[in-house]
Amino acid sequence: MKADTRILSIIVPCYNEEKSVPLFYAETVKQETFFHDKNVEFEFIFVDDGSKDDTVGAVKSLREKDDRVHLVSFSRNFGKEAAIIAGLEKASGDFTVLMDADLQDPPAILPEMYQYIEEGYDSVATRRVDRKGEPPIRSFFARRFYGLMRKISKTEIVDGARDYRLMTRQVTDAILAMKEYNRFSKGIFGWVGFSTKWIEYENIQRVAGETKWSFWKLFLYSLDGIMAFSTAPLSIASVFGMLFCLVAFVFMIFIFVRALIYGDPVAGWPSMMCIISLIGGVQLLCLGIMGQYMSKMYMEVKDRPKYLVKEEF
Ligand code: UDP
Ligand code: MG
Repeated sequence: MKADTRILSIIVPCYNEEKSVPLFYAETVKQETFFHDKNVEFEFIFVDDGSKDDTVGAVKSLREKDDRVHLVSFSRNFGKEAAIIAGLEKASGDFTVLMDADLQDPPAILPEMYQYIEEGYDSVATRRVDRKGEPPIRSFFARRFYGLMRKISKTEIVDGARDYRLMTRQVTDAILAMKEYNRFSKGIFGWVGFSTKWIEYENIQRVAGETKWSFWKLFLYSLDGIMAFSTAPLSIASVFGMLFCLVAFVFMIFIFVRALIYGDPVAGWPSMMCIISLIGGVQLLCLGIMGQYMSKMYMEVKDRPKYLVKEEF
């Protein structure tokens, strides 16, 4: 290794990716010739997120041939966000790149991404321009989610943005400095800022295995995203409250005046029930919203480790 050799850490979160890992490695090393000329060395960091298959074994057999391969293996499945942070913490590189193990993040564009870094960008991000091969209902809700986020959050969250990102050490350290427990990377990348170059490509099907994101998991993840990067739901709850106070006040005056003029025969039970149940519903909704933020706070306050390591090298 020459003295001024720089390191590019390739961070790969893996959950049940036994089949993808060797394919990913084989594809990625193909890009090395370009980087050799630039005097940049690869470092692979596979993060095994509590896989139930032999992902660890697959990484170990790569290590036997190549000692630049590293592993962080979790004690159980902590989720992709935890895997990302574990990888970033372990990375020693001057540059870091996050990539999925399933080759949906094409290694072939790594040289292009690196060239933008050389041009002076701090990070190079990627987004899919289409959602080919994805269930239509998922695409529909994904679009709604990004539309909503644009309206209610100050942090820019780009539609179709992938986690595939090449970053300088400075950006990596900025991300590591964000200590929150409830992590939503797409928001975190936007929040830290720095100059970012966006590259677009078409959706690619995964090479092996299957997606780990059910519709329900994605839905919960989107709620996490909203709560991590927006307090708009809380404001909406207050607006609801004020609105109902106003309506109640006007109603009170109306009833009072009517009672003065026409007396007060007991009537209107059905309308009363409607109003009571409506207000009750809104109150529960608002309490629920507050409860959601409180539960996030509860997790932050507990300050538990974001992941537990069983094995690493
Ligand atoms: N992943 C992970 N932990 C999880 C779920 C996924 O580390 O709990 C990894 C997975 O192995 C893959 C990447 O995150 O490398 C993206 O997952 P996937 O391909 O299932 O998501 P999709 O591309 O369908 O959005
Ligand atoms: Mg994938």
